[in-house]
Amino acid sequence: MKLNERGLLVVISGPSGVGKGTVRRALFQMPHHDLVYSVSMTTRPPRPGEVEGVDYYFVDKETFLQRIKENKFLEWAEFVGNYYGTPRDKVDEQLDKGKEVVLEIEVEGALQVRKQMKEAVFIFLVPPGKKALYERLVSRGTESIDLINRRMKKAESEFLLAHKYDYIVVNDDVNNAADRIMAIIRAEHAKTERT
Ligand code: 5GP
Repeated sequence: MKLNERGLLVVISGPSGVGKGTVRRALFQMPHHDLVYSVSMTTRPPRPGEVEGVDYYFVDKETFLQRIKENKFLEWAEFVGNYYGTPRDKVDEQLDKGKEVVLEIEVEGALQVRKQMKEAVFIFLVPPGKKALYERLVSRGTESIDLINRRMKKAESEFLLAHKYDYIVVNDDVNNAADRIMAIIRAEHAKTERT
């Protein structure tokens, strides 16, 4: 019997370009899961193909700062010149329904969540090597070289905090990485059922 009816919060971080979005999409395509993705709010302009309310809620800086003042974010951070945040009410609502809620966020924000939600599970996704990271950022073709270099620099500082996570998953192959994350979620879920 499931004693803990509240869902599990799953936080996935990893350097920009590691393929978090691709792995997350593969995760959500797997059968028999009860996962919900928490759509973040950002001041970053949409990339080609990104959809409002699906990839992000795109807002201007003023709106974002107002939301911070109103304490509407579970966590938020500034990342390479833009703001990103997790709307608090949606996460709570889904966890209360017993859903597993997946956050795909950078390290600073993840550490803020860590302080508030001890029972959440923290997964850090790493590339098979630094070169792979750089190549992925370049091949995405959406950022200038200057921005790519800033994201690479940021990745260095993010790696230093990887030890604060519960699990490290190597993204050598998208489906393998998604399988490993699903295995972690199932194992963590089984733990909460026991307690
Ligand atoms: P991108 O601009 O590549 O979509 O995202 C940049 C970074 O911000 C990525 O590491 C992404 O995971 C992170 N990010 C996306 N949404 C959020 C959020 O709500 N909060 C925080 N702290 N980081 C986020």
